[in-house]
Amino acid sequence: MDEIIKAISGDGFVSVSVVSTKALTERAREIHKSTPVVTAALGRTLAAASIIGSALKKPGASLTVRINGGGPVGNIIVVSDDMGNVRGYVQNPAADAPKTKPGKLNVGGVVGTNGTLSVVKDLGGKEPYTGSIKLVSGEIAEDFTSYLAVSEQIPSACALGVLVDRDWSVLAAGGYIVQLLPGAPDGVIDGVEKNVAATGAVTDILNCGDADALLESVMAGFSPRVIERLSVEYRCTCSRERFLAAVLSLDEAELDDMRRKGEPVEVSCQFCGAAYVYDADELAGM
Ligand code: ZN
Repeated sequence: MDEIIKAISGDGFVSVSVVSTKALTERAREIHKSTPVVTAALGRTLAAASIIGSALKKPGASLTVRINGGGPVGNIIVVSDDMGNVRGYVQNPAADAPKTKPGKLNVGGVVGTNGTLSVVKDLGGKEPYTGSIKLVSGEIAEDFTSYLAVSEQIPSACALGVLVDRDWSVLAAGGYIVQLLPGAPDGVIDGVEKNVAATGAVTDILNCGDADALLESVMAGFSPRVIERLSVEYRCTCSRERFLAAVLSLDEAELDDMRRKGEPVEVSCQFCGAAYVYDADELAGM
């Protein structure tokens, strides 16, 4: 089961959110039939969006992450609800990038570095909040760390990982964001840096342990107190009605053309692959 665990250190200076996302990342892979390196790029983005989305704390709020670094995968789009449930798609799920280090998927190579990571938080008000940064490495975790530092002005460390099996299925996935709260003394900062280094690749821990094991490693020596646990999953919100609204928002000429032809119109959801068919009568009635 995928879950987010949020905890705070005994001294109150360090907060952390860890997430395990194996099942939801495997679901994304099944829907998009992505190559291992694209599964890693999308999976890392899903994990980060899940953590940041789960902090929105407003029913109906949502978070949309868009990454485009000019690499072969094109756009990566991920949406989270306010409870960390996510969905996503990529422009080119078949993209690949040659490995530069043995045994390591070249996520930066498939994403590219010539572009931006942007986050839109829709809290249900008039104006959604938007933050955007230039990509650092296209490896996703470093890019989110930069986003948190620049756009949200919170000193953070973000680590994300996806481990793909030889048959392309997902063996382990997840990540964490650890943040320093105002007034944290130097000793605490050093301690967090040491823990981050000692924790290493998150999939090394998640491949044989769970989110609790990851939490223990990142917060070693900080007497963490768990404040929240949330089950998260791959969740799409599409429906027949929503897509009909989208079809009807096409321009008049295009709609007239469809009505004249009298053929059913089929649209499919980019996030989950669900197909919806509208017959000519439905379109004519509008
Ligand atoms: Zn859908």
